[in-house]
Amino acid sequence: MKRFDVVIVGAGHGGAQAAIALRQQKFGGTIALIGDEPDYPYERPPLSKDYLAGEKPFERIMIRPPAFWAERDVTMLLGHRVEAVDPAARRVRLADGQSVGYGQLVWATGGTPRRLTCAGFDLAKVHSVRSRADVDAMMASLPDVQRVVVIGGGYIGLEAAAVLAKLGKRIVLLEALDRVLARVAGEPVSQFYEAEHRAHGLDLRTGVAVDCIEGADGSATGVRLAGGEVLPSDMVIVGIGIIPSVEPLVTAGADAGNGVHVDDHCRTSLPGIFAIGDCAAHENRFAGGARIRLESVQNANDQATIVAKAITGEPAPYAALPWFWSNQYDLKLQTVGLSIGYDDLVVRGDVGARSFSVIYLKQGRVIALDCINAVKDYVQGRALVAGGVNAGKDRLSDPAIPLKSLAT
Ligand code: FAD
Repeated sequence: MKRFDVVIVGAGHGGAQAAIALRQQKFGGTIALIGDEPDYPYERPPLSKDYLAGEKPFERIMIRPPAFWAERDVTMLLGHRVEAVDPAARRVRLADGQSVGYGQLVWATGGTPRRLTCAGFDLAKVHSVRSRADVDAMMASLPDVQRVVVIGGGYIGLEAAAVLAKLGKRIVLLEALDRVLARVAGEPVSQFYEAEHRAHGLDLRTGVAVDCIEGADGSATGVRLAGGEVLPSDMVIVGIGIIPSVEPLVTAGADAGNGVHVDDHCRTSLPGIFAIGDCAAHENRFAGGARIRLESVQNANDQATIVAKAITGEPAPYAALPWFWSNQYDLKLQTVGLSIGYDDLVVRGDVGARSFSVIYLKQGRVIALDCINAVKDYVQGRALVAGGVNAGKDRLSDPAIPLKSLAT
């Protein structure tokens, strides 16, 4: 049995960054990075943006060139799925039966796309957008696609819809709740994006329930709504969230709920096992201490660094300010902080000119900003969130007053 001082499971954003950060921290032990995808680690955000649009080749979305991993002496075990973890023996079992021993284990497996539960969910031409393979399959079929139904009005569904609309496809986007982005943004942001997508030709419907996916010869042909209407489609895209990939850890006895529970050094309840990224449920000070999972590159990277520090004996608790971005059409959304639990909001800037920010408040204090084509607000607003500043709605909403002047 091979054994490594550190075994990282999941060769995505968090896993790759954990290996990078360990070497940056001068960790001299052996490292293995085990990933079930065949590819070297790559960036996921472009999958629903410029990679899907055909504007960036795969080589340009790799996190590091292939040679990097050999140069840093990181053993890449790609195309291998970890099926079981034995915390007592400190080893993992791969799908092909091999075992790999570890000194410390870093679990960085992200999540699998949530699937529809209705009939037809598994037909061909029903796509999710999580991996390079998912998006390559979509891109290969695009020449034959005219009509697309997107199920889910979260970031990934909206971004994919924006790309395909630009490619001239006819798109219906269905959201079950009464507005898009309802779980992550306030009403002004939702309304703005709904109007933008409609202006780009989307038939965007909210408050809609899907009854089933209709098919013929094993392929989807349309989406039937609860009211009976059938939307014909050549492609169905499902973007309704992810389920954290933590089964082997849960089976091994780790505390878990929505994701595996970690402390502020990303330690799970199992000895010698850390978890980071989309699959790690941690108590976040920017969510008022609530236990949450964050699905962002920032979180995966920052938690990877926390683990590298813990492993190399320089522990530092996780307290990173959350940030996120989304690109749709010519709109760049940048978010800082978490708007969860806001009780008031302020709109700053000119919605009509497509450059504005929504500032979220809780008991008067700034907890988050969504900045749309408003980079200055994003950069200057970070200090307001970090400090939980109470600056007053009038001043926050006045674009003539720079946010940086309110930070003290
Ligand atoms: P991942 O990057 O998903 O990596 C997990 C890896 O582990 C995967 O390769 C998976 O196949 C593998 N794996 C799972 N189980 C096993 C197993 N048992 N054995 C071996 N390997 C396993 N975030 C932003 O901040 N901004 C954005 O604009 C943005 N856009 C996005 C667009 C898309 C289409 C997607 C899918 C995500 C986007 N995100 C964005 C989210 C961001 O990509 C994730 O938060 C980030 O990838 C999380 O990193 P991770 O390491 O936790 O998981």
